[in-house]
Amino acid sequence: MTAPAPSSSEPHSSEPDSLVPADEDRRCVGCGYSLRALTLNRCPECGLEFDPDRLPQPSIPWLLEESFSTFVQTVGMVLLHPRAFGEHVWRDVDISARRSTRFRWITVGVACLSMLAVPLVRIPSFYAIIPALFLAAVSGFFFSVATGNVEISPFVPPPWAQRVRFIRLQGMSCAGLALSPLVPLAALVDALIHGLAKVGMLIPLAAAVVLLAWLYGSLAFQAMGGRRTFAQLLEHVLLLPLLWLMILTVGVLLAGGLFAIAVVGYRIMSM
Ligand SMILES: [Zn+2]
Repeated sequence: MTAPAPSSSEPHSSEPDSLVPADEDRRCVGCGYSLRALTLNRCPECGLEFDPDRLPQPSIPWLLEESFSTFVQTVGMVLLHPRAFGEHVWRDVDISARRSTRFRWITVGVACLSMLAVPLVRIPSFYAIIPALFLAAVSGFFFSVATGNVEISPFVPPPWAQRVRFIRLQGMSCAGLALSPLVPLAALVDALIHGLAKVGMLIPLAAAVVLLAWLYGSLAFQAMGGRRTFAQLLEHVLLLPLLWLMILTVGVLLAGGLFAIAVVGYRIMSM
């Protein structure tokens, strides 16, 4: 077997000293300077060294290290610095599928536990467990489906790598849901103000804040990460709540059906 002779038309062979190919948009993790076609593994702008054989890590705290504090920092980044978060779709960085999935499931878990906590806080009886379980079942179904890869207008960029990064980061754009402990907290404060018999405006207010944060994070990611047009963003802001309502209805019907079966089964067993 003979090795093929190097072709003179191959793009990299004409620049043998270049560490990062000219068609790769790799940037310095320290300052964002383009590392394209450099001959030394050191950023000319800030002096940071890089490994030319491995894609750099993104500057998203949770994807660098998993901890409570990086989780909180990442929620803050998605909501307060959506441009810095979304720009990672367009950079040649290594977005860990495992870590982005775990971020999404932790967020969904926080939202479900918060929903479960509301009746437990408000109903001072053992039977609070029934609405709590019902709410947990509905929210478990709703949040896990609604935070999935919901594409109203599909994101199809020219290189495949961007689509992979888009999908992985989109899973994290539900970060606003991590604010959902505000809802049981509002239920507790409301009970202290109005007593248990009356429900004030605090609970729906807290729920609205969480939903708006979720919607905002999702939209801001579509705008910054997906570089959507105004028409596509409008489509998102109008259709996404409708889609959420549909998923919620299916969740309520499914959980209601399961509970009806459980009640009928219990009656038959105890007859
Ligand atoms: Zn630099």
